[in-house]
Amino acid sequence: MAGSRYAYVRDFELADAALPRTYLVVRIDGRGFHRFSQQQQFSKPNDPDALELMNEAARAVLREFKGHITLAFGESDEYSFLLDRDSNLYNRRQSKLVSHIVSVFTGAYVFMWSRYMRIPLERPPSFDGRLVMYPTAREVRDYFSWRQADSTFAAALTQPAHINNLYNTVFWALVLQGQQTEHEAHETLKGTFSSDKHEILYTRFGINYDKLPALYRKGTTLVWAPVPGQQPRSKPKTELRSLHVDIISDAFWMHTDDAPPALPTSTSDLFYEAPDRLTGPGLGERVLE
Ligand SMILES: [Mg+2]
Repeated sequence: MAGSRYAYVRDFELADAALPRTYLVVRIDGRGFHRFSQQQQFSKPNDPDALELMNEAARAVLREFKGHITLAFGESDEYSFLLDRDSNLYNRRQSKLVSHIVSVFTGAYVFMWSRYMRIPLERPPSFDGRLVMYPTAREVRDYFSWRQADSTFAAALTQPAHINNLYNTVFWALVLQGQQTEHEAHETLKGTFSSDKHEILYTRFGINYDKLPALYRKGTTLVWAPVPGQQPRSKPKTELRSLHVDIISDAFWMHTDDAPPALPTSTSDLFYEAPDRLTGPGLGERVLE
């Protein structure tokens, strides 16, 4: 008697392999983080420690899937992970890929919480995930531009505005410094464009948005980059870099033979102003080969 009379139920499990030779992006998103961030007293509009906890959880994902996930980008309560187009992890089964990434991320987020946050974790955070297949490098670049633009500008009117960092920055300036209620601040910002928000920030609160930390304006990009100073070899040793840089323009994605620019000097001891986080030209080059 081969198998058992019950084994047929397996036939109900549908194949869900992602298309071959496509770039896979898994985006995870915090569930109910508006309320979660209030309960956990995240500082507004940006809490650098909470963002760095997100980054640390994402680094755990990149280490777990080294050789498969080549780049990640995060802002606010979301993170996107890019799988190499040749990766055959889990035979490219979508449900396995999404669920494992979400669970490694969430586990690490909880595990690392007390290293980054002062207030004890009061309730279990959770994240959802989705997987999208992109056929060429063009769409992958556009995808990451879309996510970074979303954190940078208020232009993405199709997005719920509260996920937008410029919006958040003005919103919380109106509330915390301008003494408006949250409802009034939403009303003030209704129908305003990006330029209006910059104007309100500058004229009413003396804040130049473009001078705020790059962590807030550019989000965080994680990438495996060659360790500097190695002899040339076919498979260079790599290290995981955390960057707060522009990934919309070509500079990040294309290597030039120019000498690498000197690291920006910084006298700050804030982790997100460390010089090696603020520049990364060409580091994306191998990602889309
Ligand atoms: Mg969310």
